[in-house]
Amino acid sequence: MKPAPITAAPLDAAARKAIAPLVCYPVETLPRPDLARYRAVRDDVTLVERLVIPPREAGTWTVPAGHFCRILCIEGPQVADLNLFNLNNLEERFYSGKTRALNGTHVGLGDQLFSSFPHMRPMATITHDTLDWYGFDDFGGAVHDVIGTRCDPYTHNLLSHGGQYHHCCHSNLTRAFAAHTGKPLAEAERYIHDVLNVFMCTGFTRDTGQYFMKASPVRVGDYLEFFAEIDLLGCMSVCPGGDCSSEHSSDVAACHPLAVEVWRPAALPEGWAPAPENGYDRSHGL
Ligand SMILES: [Zn+2]
Repeated sequence: MKPAPITAAPLDAAARKAIAPLVCYPVETLPRPDLARYRAVRDDVTLVERLVIPPREAGTWTVPAGHFCRILCIEGPQVADLNLFNLNNLEERFYSGKTRALNGTHVGLGDQLFSSFPHMRPMATITHDTLDWYGFDDFGGAVHDVIGTRCDPYTHNLLSHGGQYHHCCHSNLTRAFAAHTGKPLAEAERYIHDVLNVFMCTGFTRDTGQYFMKASPVRVGDYLEFFAEIDLLGCMSVCPGGDCSSEHSSDVAACHPLAVEVWRPAALPEGWAPAPENGYDRSHGL
């Protein structure tokens, strides 16, 4: 529990709290993708790869720029932790924090997933989401969050007073990334980054601001689809939390596999080209 305040409120406390918020990054100035152009090419597509990732494990796959990728619920409600890399430069990774600052706490149709500095550009554009009907529920919960980092054995060790659990998403991602790249485990671990929590339903409690999760509304047949703006390496863990209705960081929750599909469209979206590197000159004032 957090301690109660020890500072008396000032006389104008109510007035200070009544100031209306401003959105930090006005969406009017954020270049947005022309979603209609992407969706115009997604009906004529050819499946080029499909993998099924078992529960409490992670898998890797590649998505060439200009291809669609779908993450599918195939057997039962289940959430996943997604990492994305530039296939040609693994130092360029998905930047959960900036994606959150630009799009909000949860991502969906038409949002773009941004990469880390100094590259900072759209890596992927979300082109279909069968859970887009969900919006925000009465608790402030929504799906596909970019707030929840990833479940990991270090936090588990801290909270369980010494517990050792090896199938948190962080470890699953580390093993899969190491296997794909041939990097030693300790080096591979440093590439694992904060995730897009696919299908996970989360929010912050209104009274205490604490991160919460609840049973995912995802059902068999649902999927999240994105279009690759650059060549991508995907790495995704099928979370030991299952649908996150009870707990994670254990083997208790019922878990289900998830499928990943890569689809090549017959034509590219009109006027589309791979996303260029960020235009900042990196002189930092010197
Ligand atoms: Zn997890």
